[in-house]
Amino acid sequence: MSKAIRIHTHGGPEVMKWEDVPTPEPGPGEALVRQAAIGLNYIDVYFRNGLYKIPTLPAVIGMEAAGTVTALGAGVSGLAVGDRVAYASGPIGAYASERVIQADRLVPLPAAIDFNTAAAMMLQGMTAQYLLRRTYPVKAGETILVHAAAGGVGLILCQWAKHLGATVIGVVSTAEKAALARAHGASEVILGYGDLAGEVKRLTGGAMVPVVYDSIGRDTFNASIDCLAPLGMMVSYGNASGPAAPVDVGMLGAKGSLFLTRPSLATYTAKPADLRHCAAELFDVVGSGAVKIRVNQTFPLSEAAKAHAALEARQTTGSTVLLP
Ligand code: NDP
Repeated sequence: MSKAIRIHTHGGPEVMKWEDVPTPEPGPGEALVRQAAIGLNYIDVYFRNGLYKIPTLPAVIGMEAAGTVTALGAGVSGLAVGDRVAYASGPIGAYASERVIQADRLVPLPAAIDFNTAAAMMLQGMTAQYLLRRTYPVKAGETILVHAAAGGVGLILCQWAKHLGATVIGVVSTAEKAALARAHGASEVILGYGDLAGEVKRLTGGAMVPVVYDSIGRDTFNASIDCLAPLGMMVSYGNASGPAAPVDVGMLGAKGSLFLTRPSLATYTAKPADLRHCAAELFDVVGSGAVKIRVNQTFPLSEAAKAHAALEARQTTGSTVLLP
């Protein structure tokens, strides 16, 4: 038997139950992983509360973990029992001591990256990679706006964008988070969501920004749009405050021929070659020290409910890891 956090119904953190589950056997193309550390991500909240639907309940939630391959199904090449691996991908099922997953979603870990760091960085770090390098390729000298700048994705975005030569304006809710964002590469930090466009106008001398990375959704969407320079790109990549309202397409023209995208890591890493390239760039910036992964909270996996409550109450900073 293995241990897992399962939900039998959608709801608050209390619906997560620590249960015995049969240890699965890997089928063709699959690997069994003994998981050493599991990454906590905001998407886990969406699957738990029902914003993202799960076809069959009960279900094990979670998208990211690091551990050791303990068995391989037929037809798997390029992996061996004993390999240290990590993943950040569907289907859900990461909140478990052991799990089976498609072998081609696993990324072998460099020796220098420990399991906790790997579990903290794969999903949030690969998200930062595709947002900064592909969705809107950030160039040296540009000034960009990053919401939730002291969060998991946020701290990585700030460091990586600075490494690319950009100036980061971060948005956070408290003075402590502002200090953290500054310590990780944000040049300016705006507190709260008051007159966001006015603050960005002041900080950019009226130029506004070519891209906004908005993970908040409902509460910030319109304010973010107003921070863009003409031809700017609105990257709405998350819903921490709830989903953004439907968009009036004509507004994008009226506000300066803007671009709007709602990207997801799943699309950007769907092809195994893209997954490997994305992970390799992440390993490079972490390996060189340009991006430091901050595991600022750890919880026993059995106490995942406490971790979710802290994340939703905006009490976490950086990354959070669950230990089975
Ligand atoms: P974070 O660590 O960033 O935590 C969420 C943060 O959002 C909070 O700490 C808080 O920061 C801010 N926030 C603002 N309003 C609210 C609210 N009403 N409720 C809760 N939090 C709020 O989480 P992650 O790094 O795991 O994820 C960040 C975002 O990125 C999420 O929206 C997630 O869904 C998205 N994401 C999207 C991906 C994609 O491919 N599209 C992949 C990975 C993540 P503050 O207090 O400073 O405002």
